[in-house]
Amino acid sequence: MADIKTIPPRSGAGFTLDKGQTLTVIDPEGRQVSDLLAYNRADVREAISSGRTLDYASRLYLTTGDLLYSNRSNVMLEIVSDDVGRHDFLLTPCSKETFAIIYGDTDPHRGCFGNLAEALEPWGVEPDQIPVAFNCFMNVPINGETGTFTVEPPLSKAGDTIVFRAAMDLVIGMTACSALQSNGGSFKPIQYRID
Ligand SMILES: [Zn+2]
Repeated sequence: MADIKTIPPRSGAGFTLDKGQTLTVIDPEGRQVSDLLAYNRADVREAISSGRTLDYASRLYLTTGDLLYSNRSNVMLEIVSDDVGRHDFLLTPCSKETFAIIYGDTDPHRGCFGNLAEALEPWGVEPDQIPVAFNCFMNVPINGETGTFTVEPPLSKAGDTIVFRAAMDLVIGMTACSALQSNGGSFKPIQYRID
């Protein structure tokens, strides 16, 4: 079995995932979000697209069997297993500005956005190329009448996983999310494994 790697609380990681490999995202302690981004390794201008994916799925909550598409409408990842069944694909990675605007922080953390920008820089991904991430385990219930939503603690329990299979050679950016509200009020690590 492949090594399990740990992303410490409020940080991120960048790595490659080859076509056909699987990426297992593990919530080791429970109630922790991980923002996930994917780029075509041959041309990082092609990136994971919330808009394309949700349009083709006709559904806001994605789970086993669903495909994650790029801005060029190519399949990048397939969800092949999911213990939780509740993830978000609407909201952007938390950032310095998020913490200033929503939380009123005077010395804000750089958030998932800053962590992803640093993790993806070696592959030539610029901050302006960071789109809406697939937010593993993020729980955003939506009122179907009004469209109002809230950010609630994740439904994930310790050891829960979601597994993706790569449909092309990818660069992946992943975080242990830095936003208090998204993670039930505490910052925890995220783990992953490539097989
Ligand atoms: Zn975050």
